[in-house]
Amino acid sequence: MTDWRREIVRGLRGSWTPDAPLAPRTTIRVGGPAELLALPGGPGELVGLLAAARRLGIPVSILGGGADTLVADRGVRGLVIRLPPELGEEAAEDDRLLLPAGAPIARLAARGHARGLVGAEFTAGIPGTLGGAVALDAGTRAGELRDLLLRAELATADGIGFVPAAALGLGYRSSRLPAGAVVTRLEVRLRPGDVAASRAAMAADLARRRETQPLDQPTFGSTFRNPPGGFAGALLEAAGLKGHRLGGAAWSERHANFVVNLGGATAADVLGLLALARRRVRERAGVHLEAEVRLLGEFEPAQRAEFEAA
Ligand SMILES: Cc1cc2nc3c(=O)[nH]c(=O)nc-3n(C[C@H](O)[C@H](O)[C@H](O)COP(=O)(O)OP(=O)(O)OC[C@H]3O[C@@H](n4cnc5c(N)ncnc54)[C@H](O)[C@@H]3O)c2cc1C
Repeated sequence: MTDWRREIVRGLRGSWTPDAPLAPRTTIRVGGPAELLALPGGPGELVGLLAAARRLGIPVSILGGGADTLVADRGVRGLVIRLPPELGEEAAEDDRLLLPAGAPIARLAARGHARGLVGAEFTAGIPGTLGGAVALDAGTRAGELRDLLLRAELATADGIGFVPAAALGLGYRSSRLPAGAVVTRLEVRLRPGDVAASRAAMAADLARRRETQPLDQPTFGSTFRNPPGGFAGALLEAAGLKGHRLGGAAWSERHANFVVNLGGATAADVLGLLALARRRVRERAGVHLEAEVRLLGEFEPAQRAEFEAA
């Protein structure tokens, strides 16, 4: 290992892997390795990692469930941090739940149901972690995380503490987390209600997703954000992209805004599809589509520039 990696992991109780493949840690399953992937053993250790990275000038990226992330084929320079699902204690009081950010999004509704609480039905079928759900204000037309979020616990190189939801700037598939901050826990408010009805609504939503989304293929869900007053899927379909293939990746036949990995796709294939779609939609409809998926790592500069310019 190079020196900075040795220094950063010295004394770490958690786990770490040099040159760790990230493709298996994303839902679309493409991309290269992280120079160093680390899972802190506790909140204090996370702060220590962030402080060491800052001292050494090492770039830091956070990976949750990788359900909204496209990793570059060359991988990611610097330190990639993932949170274990149990980092930080869980707690519950009345209608409020305090949950670790590394836990799956599904835990929110499940813990609520166990206490007779409802209101998180919109999370049915959204993969990834609760930390990713905060960062992207995950949700559907039926509801979004910001409807429930009271406050989040953030770790930075300077320490750890709670910040009220209003300070995090959550909005449609976005947030304004302070630079370099890692969400470690979140507190949400649900409401007492009919748990059986809530479970039934979630099961119905999952069944609907199975019909309308390519859940049997690796994908990162919706690729582009809906533009104001419109739907990205409709624009992509009108541009004739459904089923369009590039290398091992294709625009899904089942959901116009989903890219799928047909097997052996590279990040270059996927980014090529995104650039093509952006260009076609701009030419046909005069609409600029903003990516919902996050690009992580060292993409080929010319290809990245082509995508940005499209
Ligand atoms: C089949 C499928 C269906 C989907 N349906 C929906 C849907 O209906 N609605 C929806 O909103 N999304 C949907 N998504 C996208 C995805 O599930 C959500 O965006 C989810 O919130 C991503 O969480 P993640 O942990 O996987 O994030 P990642 O992809 O790992 O990361 C996404 C961003 O969050 C940041 N992040 C992650 N964890 C933390 C943390 N602890 N602290 C700070 N930043 C963090 C990352 O740095 C990155 O910028 C779908 C995806 C798939 C594959």
